[in-house]
Amino acid sequence: MIACAEGVILTFLGLSGACIGSFLNVVVYRLPRECMSIARPRSRCTSCASLIVWYDNIPLVSWILLKGRCRHCKARISPRYILVEALVATWFTLSALMWFWSGRDDAVLAASETEWIAWSVQALVFSVLLALALIDIDHRILPDELTIGGMVLGPALAFAAPDFQHGRSFVRALLDLDAGPRVLALADGLVGMAAGAGVLWLIGWLGARAFRREAMGFGDVKMIGAMGAMLGMWVFLALVVASFVGAIVGVIGMCLGQGRQIPFGPFLAAGMLVVMFAGPQLLELWLGMARAH
Ligand SMILES: [Zn+2]
Repeated sequence: MIACAEGVILTFLGLSGACIGSFLNVVVYRLPRECMSIARPRSRCTSCASLIVWYDNIPLVSWILLKGRCRHCKARISPRYILVEALVATWFTLSALMWFWSGRDDAVLAASETEWIAWSVQALVFSVLLALALIDIDHRILPDELTIGGMVLGPALAFAAPDFQHGRSFVRALLDLDAGPRVLALADGLVGMAAGAGVLWLIGWLGARAFRREAMGFGDVKMIGAMGAMLGMWVFLALVVASFVGAIVGVIGMCLGQGRQIPFGPFLAAGMLVVMFAGPQLLELWLGMARAH
């Protein structure tokens, strides 16, 4: 059962998610167009350039009321706008429900400050990963603002929410360092950033030499660096997941005659989320399968 006060909190999180999804739509549209600022000017129709008034800009609601068309020129507005808003709203609500799930009626209300910080960190990471994935799909670039921003912020996020490294510290194992979980997570983040970006850069360099063409963009290297800054050495599991899923999708795409190169960013984003939420379980599964053979 969900208590009333808990329902209010979950609704608030869902509405916040819808607003952040709406903001991400702006980020995804404007960030790759370098002459545009995120904050200004106000939104305009991309077809007829008329200003979009506030009541035509309400997350989830306006797209439905306008039936997916501009009020003035009736140009089609991509359903992706409302899908992104709905996705972030759903993620925020469901992740809070799962996060604080303990079988108690008031699990969300009883959550500690540490749990809320960890929830907020994953919500932020999800939002940034979604923006990166969509920009990569649209433009085949991963903007520095997000990747380098992630590298700068990542170690701090690891310090704030060390649980995403699942209690396993490479630095402690290697150096026999005795420190608190937060400091260890930060140290692992710095190591993971350097190792992840370094290895991916090396793979790209070898690939470019072997195939005599640019196989991987430097944006991917920076994105892996940002992921490692928070995940520590778990970044390599995320890279394996991304490559595995990417290879499957790539083969399916080739079979369907989609010859064009698919961007790697969305797969990296998926790999990071999988490892954040189920890294140890996935590792156990694979190690178990390896032992069985
Ligand atoms: Zn218009």
